[in-house]
Amino acid sequence: MELWRRLRITEIVYLSPVFLYFVFCTEYPIGAIFDENSSDIKYAFEKEIEFLSRQPDAIPIKAEIQLLKSTDSFAVSNAICSLLRKGVYGIIGVSDASALPTIQSYSNNFKVPFIALSMIQNSSSHGDFQLFMRPVYVNGLLDVIIKYGWERILYIYDTDEGLIRLQQLFQAVNTREHFIDIDVKRVQNAEDCYNMLKDLHKKDEKTTIRVFLDIPTESAETVIVKLKNDTTVMNHKFHFLLGELRIEEMNLAPFKNGGINITGFQLLNYTTLLKKSAINKAWKIWDWPDPSYSHQIPLEPALVIDAVNIFQRALKQLYKNRNVYNDFNDRQFKNMKCTDNNYVSPNNGTNMMMKLKGNEIEFTGLTGKVSFDENGFRNKFKLHLLEITMNMGLAEVGYWKRDTGLTSQEPNRRRPDQEKKKKKRIVTTIIDDPYMMYKDEATKALKPPCGKEHFIGFCADLAKEVAAHVKFDYDICVVKDGLYGELLMNKTWNGMIGELTRDEVDLAIAPITITSQRERVVDFTKPYMSLGISIMIKKTAVKKASVFSFMDPLSYEIWMCILFAYIGVSVVLFLVSRFSPTEWHVDDGASISNDFTISNSLWYSLGAFMQQGCDISPRSVSGRIVGSVWWFFTLIIISSYTANLAAFLTVERMLTPIESAEDLAKQTEIQYGILASGSTASFFQQSKFPVHERMWAYMQSASPSVFVKSNQEGIERVRKGNYAYLMESTTNKYTNMRKPCDTMQVGPNLDSKGYGIATPIGSDLRDQLTLAVLKLREAGRLEEMQKEWWEKRSECPTKENNQDGGQAELTLENVAGIFYILAGGLTLSVIIAFFEFIYKSKLDSKRSKKPFGSVLRCKARLSFRGSLDRDNPNPSSPLRKSMSTYTYTGPSHVAGADGFPDNLHTQV
Ligand code: ASP
Repeated sequence: MELWRRLRITEIVYLSPVFLYFVFCTEYPIGAIFDENSSDIKYAFEKEIEFLSRQPDAIPIKAEIQLLKSTDSFAVSNAICSLLRKGVYGIIGVSDASALPTIQSYSNNFKVPFIALSMIQNSSSHGDFQLFMRPVYVNGLLDVIIKYGWERILYIYDTDEGLIRLQQLFQAVNTREHFIDIDVKRVQNAEDCYNMLKDLHKKDEKTTIRVFLDIPTESAETVIVKLKNDTTVMNHKFHFLLGELRIEEMNLAPFKNGGINITGFQLLNYTTLLKKSAINKAWKIWDWPDPSYSHQIPLEPALVIDAVNIFQRALKQLYKNRNVYNDFNDRQFKNMKCTDNNYVSPNNGTNMMMKLKGNEIEFTGLTGKVSFDENGFRNKFKLHLLEITMNMGLAEVGYWKRDTGLTSQEPNRRRPDQEKKKKKRIVTTIIDDPYMMYKDEATKALKPPCGKEHFIGFCADLAKEVAAHVKFDYDICVVKDGLYGELLMNKTWNGMIGELTRDEVDLAIAPITITSQRERVVDFTKPYMSLGISIMIKKTAVKKASVFSFMDPLSYEIWMCILFAYIGVSVVLFLVSRFSPTEWHVDDGASISNDFTISNSLWYSLGAFMQQGCDISPRSVSGRIVGSVWWFFTLIIISSYTANLAAFLTVERMLTPIESAEDLAKQTEIQYGILASGSTASFFQQSKFPVHERMWAYMQSASPSVFVKSNQEGIERVRKGNYAYLMESTTNKYTNMRKPCDTMQVGPNLDSKGYGIATPIGSDLRDQLTLAVLKLREAGRLEEMQKEWWEKRSECPTKENNQDGGQAELTLENVAGIFYILAGGLTLSVIIAFFEFIYKSKLDSKRSKKPFGSVLRCKARLSFRGSLDRDNPNPSSPLRKSMSTYTYTGPSHVAGADGFPDNLHTQV
């Protein structure tokens, strides 16, 4: 006040700009302590301060940098003192954990905010003036371990910092009450680590080693690449979990198509960073020492940039409230002792800390949402969980947040090289009728591997259609190994799926079945065709309606049973009639007779069976019972026979020993097999249905092998006979319509699924291809194409035609048998009549003691009496005489056993 009173008005006018400069135009220094080797961090720090200072509403800040050996605590304390002397409002510091305690004590004593770039040493004992840019994510790592269900891990570290992290991991494991066996190994360098892992693997090649690799990402990359390239090592027996937050900083070229299992977190999301120009354009255009930083800035420079940003925002807020000047020039700190001979007058950073902590300031920086909780830890960050697997390059499989924990998602493949859209897409395919075929015999002989002009078929047409919809140029190439694709023991894929996962081709248009296992490594469009696994067998014998088809409605056994029943009934009828008095009657008072002789009984039963009448019928109760049951039996048998007769006479029947998968599984006579590497094999391998399990066990053990390399080979085996082939119904149907028309599908489908167009995961084509497939389906084009390649190319008569023809009319062929029987019966009766005649003549000649010849002639004349009368009208002729010697003695309707009426006795 004394001074003000003494100053004159002119002096005040002269001095006011100086005052204003001090109050409003002071450059607020921000300190930095970096390792002497981290030039990129220093560069990022300086550049960001320069960039922010140039902004229109900027608060002037300036950089005060100290470069030193970050492990040297003495150098660090000197550097802090020197920064405090310069009146810094805050310090951004090294990433080495060993110097952190020194920094902590200085910042707490002098109340200077310190933003640490390193990992926190001990989350419970840290000062009030520290903020940690690097998120605390040990729980995230534990969540990943739990997600994979690892019960034992090998923890490898190379610095003291690793021990701290291990301690944190143990703490987290204890609080989560989760049991994990942790083997700990410290290594000197990458080479050491590689040798150790290799030795471990050699000791027990069967065990999968789960490694928590807590070494710098660059060293981790060296170790993993070495193992991957080592042919004596089975890569799929390793799974690495990286300790750092920058898996994407690895050189991903060797893992483009996977080849080893690596999981790790990534804090910086390059995909969104590249898109979000609003965040901070500057880092993209800075003249970085390493030009690649402009599109893939490493984690540490990004952390520095965000740290500078948050400082600047805090200062801005304090500046707005006009309490920066007052606050930082608090007298109580004047001339505090920093080191023994070093006094500093620091600013009071309490207000600043209040702004920085407790989520007061929040913004989206390069490392995601930047804000700090009450303890100075970042709380709104998002860690991207990325994975490289045996058959897939880097893909995001989830994310971890402090409050929500781990969230899994469908693999979203990272393919930074995809911007350069290719002009010509390579379509992989497989030669399989009628999907993809060489256009003619000459091309088939040459087998050109590529060139869309060489191919025809359903899939060739489909490729043309979708390419026209999506508007891309393409070339068709046949898959090199000629396989569809299956997961191999080393966790890689072969066939078309393998080519897709290795990014060798852009899409696959072929009869590829959509399966869940494949969906994990490639993308499928919506299905363009539906199908299921079916059985193909050879049409062994077509049973044509034969001349004796009328016998078919009843089986051989039934015919035999009927015969025995007939004989049995006749015998029983004969016996009961014998014993029953009512069946006996007196003839002319002279003799008693019984109608039911054995031959009459047989005749009676036959008449009843044939639904004909008979002159005799039983009079006794027992005889009538026999007759009734026999009539009933006949009624049922004849009705059943008649009901089936028409079908058996007209329909040609297939003799199919196999009707279903169950039939196949039950027997061993007919071999059955499948395509060796395809979805059908996976279906049987994974099916828990007992019949399928049995079939799979049989197929694996069968010798010679029942697996085939291609559908064509399977079909040929079926045609050779004694082999059933389990194949997809669409191909089955097509084959059955091709010459020589000797194959057929039996039974229902075993499952139902679809074919889809496949692309590598994350392909830019996938959505458009799905859209194209849906459009083609809605327009009916798919249906039309299917008709074109199936029905229209059919070379065999269809089932319907067969049935029409067969059912139209009976041919002579169908009923010739009954004519044969008729003719046979007639012939037989004539022959028997002839022998009877001879035999009777012989008897008569013996009895009348007349020569056989004259009796024969006499009998012949008798037989032909009517005509002989006309020829020989003389009543005194020898024939007339002999005729008069026959006397009728009783009713003529009862036939004797000799075929003549019993009561017609010759009285010679
Ligand atoms: N279409 C099948 C596949 O994609 C082939 C098969 O297994 O029958 O693997």
